[in-house]
Amino acid sequence: MTILPRASVGLFLMLALATAAQAQRAGQPDWTSIETETLQHFQALLRFDTSDPPGNERAAVEYLKQVLQREGIVVETFALEPDRPNLVARLRGNGTKRPLLVMGHTDVVNVDPAKWTHPPFSATREGGYVYGRGTVDDKDNVVAGLMLMLMLKRLNVPLDRDVIFLAESGEEGSTRVGIQFMTREHWPAIDAEYCLAEGGAVARVGGRVRYAGVSTTEKIPRAIELTARGPAGHGSVPLKGNAVVRLSRAVAKISEWRAPIKLNETTRTYFQRLATLTSGDSAQRYRDIVGGDPATMARVDEYFLDREPSNAAVIRTSISPNIVQGGYRVNVIPSEAKATLDVRMLPGEDTVAFLATVRRVIDDPAIAVAYMRRDVRPETPDAKLNTEAFRAIEAAVTRHYSAATLPVMLTGATDMAYLRARGMQCYGIGPAFDVEDGPKGFGAHSDQERILESELHRFVRFQYDVVEQLARRR
Ligand SMILES: [Zn+2]
Repeated sequence: MTILPRASVGLFLMLALATAAQAQRAGQPDWTSIETETLQHFQALLRFDTSDPPGNERAAVEYLKQVLQREGIVVETFALEPDRPNLVARLRGNGTKRPLLVMGHTDVVNVDPAKWTHPPFSATREGGYVYGRGTVDDKDNVVAGLMLMLMLKRLNVPLDRDVIFLAESGEEGSTRVGIQFMTREHWPAIDAEYCLAEGGAVARVGGRVRYAGVSTTEKIPRAIELTARGPAGHGSVPLKGNAVVRLSRAVAKISEWRAPIKLNETTRTYFQRLATLTSGDSAQRYRDIVGGDPATMARVDEYFLDREPSNAAVIRTSISPNIVQGGYRVNVIPSEAKATLDVRMLPGEDTVAFLATVRRVIDDPAIAVAYMRRDVRPETPDAKLNTEAFRAIEAAVTRHYSAATLPVMLTGATDMAYLRARGMQCYGIGPAFDVEDGPKGFGAHSDQERILESELHRFVRFQYDVVEQLARRR
């Protein structure tokens, strides 16, 4: 830190005061009281048990509705099932630009209460954290969306575009009552140019921010079933065509095979920027993986598979054999055995050609290879990096986190897919978390869940800043 001479300190203070006064005139929120209020709403939302299944999001939605309506904000609810409504609140702009949608889901994944130090719906505050199911997935985004609407309304911020807040139900495995229902039946209520939702995070390592990950695309989940058939018989007389043996061989072959490495705009930019944030061998690897030399890329790929599996997962369509079924008693050679492959496709992958390739790699006519049913989300183009929204996010990341923004491709699937499929540019954002906290069992979908209060507040300020940049009248 630079030590300022006395005169400069005085000057600095005067400048700081002048800036604060300007902020007041420009109508900035009073962040101290906003923090108190954020925590109060956050705890209230966490205390509704919205475990999905069954969801029961209604109580949380009723709460949001009365808070918003009390301030004169227009609210509508849309429900395919009475206990599972979606809430839409809208602040009107002058229509110069198309709307901006901010969304969060009110349901949470199930809990095993025995695993929790603090009861999962108690919203206990301790040691700078708030504990509870939904603290990072996704009631943080819900409360940020709520506070955003309250602040914009109270300060009467003039808007060039409508700002829409969607609190959706059913994200955790029942999208038919949530995003599917909204996109199919109530599209005009949520139609927007841009959307901000879960799916991003600011990574902290050793308590220091490393970078902000903003998701701009995601892989498409598919499932392939392998069915091996062979002669049945008595286990005391081994047979060459044993279905279990054939299936095992097929599973081994497809697991050793790797789909070709393919980069897209998001992953290329991600590795390029990651290279600038690291040094030495690590930086070299990130440069090499986008370098285009097949031999070097293969070596890095090997390293990723050993040490950074999530980086190996984003450079190709991946296959993980996760279910194997066959046989029912020790002395019977079964005539059939099956394996289920979890396939996560890169956007743009040719599904028909991919299946043909899998068949060719397995190279056994006794194995049937076919896609099976799965809760498939639509395939969509990437959100563009060259947009006003992405630039606003990057600038706000710099202001609030003094860090670089990395576009990321999620290996999992989110509700943004349904919106991107209709041409909306969606960006996944989220609060900062300690990378060390996940392995300790406090992440999304973990045995326990928690968030740093200070980071929740920083996220509320960050998101408000992004939206203000994108929507305030120019
Ligand atoms: Zn979620």
